[in-house]
This record gives sequence, structure tokens and C-alpha cells, in this order.
Amino acid sequence: MRRLYINTIGCQMNVYDSDQIERVLAPGGYTRTAQLDEADLVVVNTCAIRAKAEQKAFSFVGRLAKLKKRRPGLIVAVGGCVAQQEGEKILSRAPQVDLVFGPKAIPRLGRLVERVRLQGMRLVDIEASDAVAELDLTSGFRDDGQVSRFVTIMQGCDNFCTYCVVPYVRGREASRHPDRILEEIRLLVAGGVREVTLLGQNVNSYGLKEQWGSFVALLAQVDRIDGLDRIRFTTSHPKDLSDHLIDAFGRLDKLCAHIHLPVQSGSDRVLKRMNRRYTREVYLERIARLRQVRPDMAITSDFIVGFPGESDTDFEQTLSLLDEVAFDGIFAFMYSDRSVAPAAGFDAKIDDAQKKARLQALLQHQEAFTLAANQALVGRMQEILVEGFSTRPGLAEEPSARRQWSGRTPGNKIVNFDQELDCTGGETVRPGLMVGVRIEKAFSHSLWGRPVWVEEKPGGIKGETCHAA
Ligand code: SF4
Repeated sequence: MRRLYINTIGCQMNVYDSDQIERVLAPGGYTRTAQLDEADLVVVNTCAIRAKAEQKAFSFVGRLAKLKKRRPGLIVAVGGCVAQQEGEKILSRAPQVDLVFGPKAIPRLGRLVERVRLQGMRLVDIEASDAVAELDLTSGFRDDGQVSRFVTIMQGCDNFCTYCVVPYVRGREASRHPDRILEEIRLLVAGGVREVTLLGQNVNSYGLKEQWGSFVALLAQVDRIDGLDRIRFTTSHPKDLSDHLIDAFGRLDKLCAHIHLPVQSGSDRVLKRMNRRYTREVYLERIARLRQVRPDMAITSDFIVGFPGESDTDFEQTLSLLDEVAFDGIFAFMYSDRSVAPAAGFDAKIDDAQKKARLQALLQHQEAFTLAANQALVGRMQEILVEGFSTRPGLAEEPSARRQWSGRTPGNKIVNFDQELDCTGGETVRPGLMVGVRIEKAFSHSLWGRPVWVEEKPGGIKGETCHAA
């Protein structure tokens, strides 16, 4: 048996790709380990979206030089968007690297690793056709107890936002055939998965090029899969968020009431320079329409601060957008030049100190909204899909140091609750079960509650089998 260690850096797309890497290497005898020291093969799955993620990848690769000295048989592979972007340069920069492969080379990874292992070659495979890289779905699936999984439905992007490398490193938009997607989800469900997140850079344009019908048509098909309970998707581009898709939130039972809708800036001037192709007004109108269809909709977003030319007035407009929308949560990042993206050549760059100050101000401004959105759930029942034990050993605010269960609401909020639930005549709590939890406390990043019922079995009837509250 050979040991595989994967360091996944960056976005959800990379989490999915790392799962695919694991599957494609399984027939070669590789099983995943969390112990770097015992690995026979280390894969660094990189992200090129921000300078920080790229630095993190190179710093990790740098540390592997020592390990390789101690274990000369170790194979080091660098994959993902930085690999695609830098190619051969990585081999020259880091002698400890044996293999560089782009996201489209994942289906060929087993053969590439074998050539490195048996012939001692150093290889680069960054062939980047626009075709979707498909795996054989029947091999390498493992039941690892996860109840929620990502499923890529499309690759690449045609939007060319001026700060972004994706269209250059992941290629143009290409959708997977619906039959392949449905087959993959059915396999996951057969292995115990109850929630899927459909992934794409812009899911709204799924299947349009290929004329496979709309994203909503795909959602409707996924909604009909027996044994699947929850559907999420990310990411949705505001310019393409159709009424049809918004209406699906009111129609499809399994579609969770949560949308991640990256806005990036509250200033029309900045949005234009970013080539986002919507205005603040359009964005706000879409939010209003979403809340009309699902008043309980949780809405999260992404922001970039310090985009070239962003003035104090532009930034104030971003802050005022937070006031107008009252997001449930946001992710915010400082702009960083990416050499292949057009904004790298823009003038009026913002200095680092200013960017840091704006980032901090933005996050502080949002804090009250996030807390208020969490507090609004106090006293209410929420259906939680149990994922496992909380990664935190008891909330700091709780006197109890007992381990707690953790799961998510349909709105994607983390809820922790006591494990001491032994229902007479019902199931005890375990990952994969739905539990009804009455929310009692709200914090900035999570909620805490008391379990009231636990479903009798996955797919079974939920009942008031346990009354811990
Ligand atoms: S929509 Fe814009 S930010 Fe998103 S992947 Fe495409 S180019 Fe990048």
C-alpha cells in the first residue's frame, strides 16, 4: 500500500479536484493519509486566485525539500492553477518537484505518477483543451463517511473579470453532461451522502453552450434523486441570476435557502473596472427578488478591497451596500496583482496599508449583521444535518467541555449541540442524521442549541423521538 498526502489550497473547486485526485490514484494502490511524514506521494493542489494562496503553495513546496532528502523515494507533484500557470518554471525553481500537472490532467495522473516512479522522470502535463476532464465514475469511489460532497458541473469561465486568472488557467467554460452529473450524485447517495453542492464558476450559464438545457432544468433533475435531501450550489454570477433560477428556490423542496452571490464592490465605477457587467442597482434588485421568493433566504457574498483606483468614496459605497443588504456573512480579500489578469496593468494601485485598513473596516462593519442574522434564529427550530463532532472542543462560551456534535442549517449556518442524546426508542445522534435543534445561543461564527428530535433513520420519518429540551 502506498500513502498519498494531498495539501489542498484555495477554493471549493480544489477540494473537489483533490477528491478526484484521490480517486484516480486509488487503482495504483494509493490511499490518503493525514501524516505528511509517512507519504510516498505528496500532491500540492494549488490556487492562483490570490498572491497569498500562491505564496502559501510555494512555501509548502519549499518545506518538502527536507522531507525528500530524508526519503529519496518520495514523489512530489504540484497540481492546480499555479501548476497550469507556471508549468516548467516550477521544475526549475524547485528541484524537489517531480511532476507538474494542470487541472485538466487529473484523469491522466495515475499514468504520470507511474512514469515518475518507474522511470525516474520529471514531467509536466499542462495540456489545456476546452473539453471537460471526465473520470471513470465507477472506480475509486470510497465511502469515507462524509454526508455532504461537492460535485463539479462545469469547468472554466468565460466572464473575464479583470482581476481574475480563472479563464486563463482553467480555460473557457465547458459543462459536464447532465447524465454524468446525475450518475455521480447517485453514486454518492448510494455511499451515504445526503447533501451535494453543485460547483461551477458561474452555474447560471450551465449547459447553455452545449444546449443541454438550463441550470434550473439540471436542478430539477437532481431534486428528484431518491435519498438525496439537500442541494446547494456555488457560484452564481449576479449578472446571470435569472428569475427562473430565483423561482426555483420557491419550488424545489431540496434546494436549500442559501445563496452565495459575490458582489465584489458596492461602487458602480469599480464594478465597471472589474468588468463585472452589473450595477449596484441590479444587484440590489436581485437580492430583493430572492427575499420575495424566500424570506428566510441566507445570503452571503465575496468582496475585494483595494482594487486599483478604488477611492474612499468607492469604498464607502461598499460599506453602505452592507447596510442595505444585511448579508448573513461575507468573505473579503485584499486585491493582489495576478500577472496574467488585465488589472495587473491598471494604474492607481492602492498601497498595502490602505488595503489592510479597508479590509479590517469592512469586516468590522459586517460583524453586527452576521451576529444579528444568527441571533434571529434564537428560539427557533432548525433542521441540522449532522456532519460530525465540532472541531472546537466545546464552545468557549459554554461551561461544558464535553464534545459537541456539529452540523449545518439549510441556510448553511454551523450549529453545535451536546452529544448527550440517547433517545429512548429512537436513534442516537450520528453523522448523516437530521436532528431538530432548538437554537438557544448565537455567536459570530456559529449557533448553539438543544436537540429536540432525531430522525429515526436516514430517509425515514422524522419524529419527536427524543425530548432532551
Ligand atoms: S466570474 Fe469572474 S471572478 Fe468568477 S471565475 Fe469567472 S472571471 Fe473569475
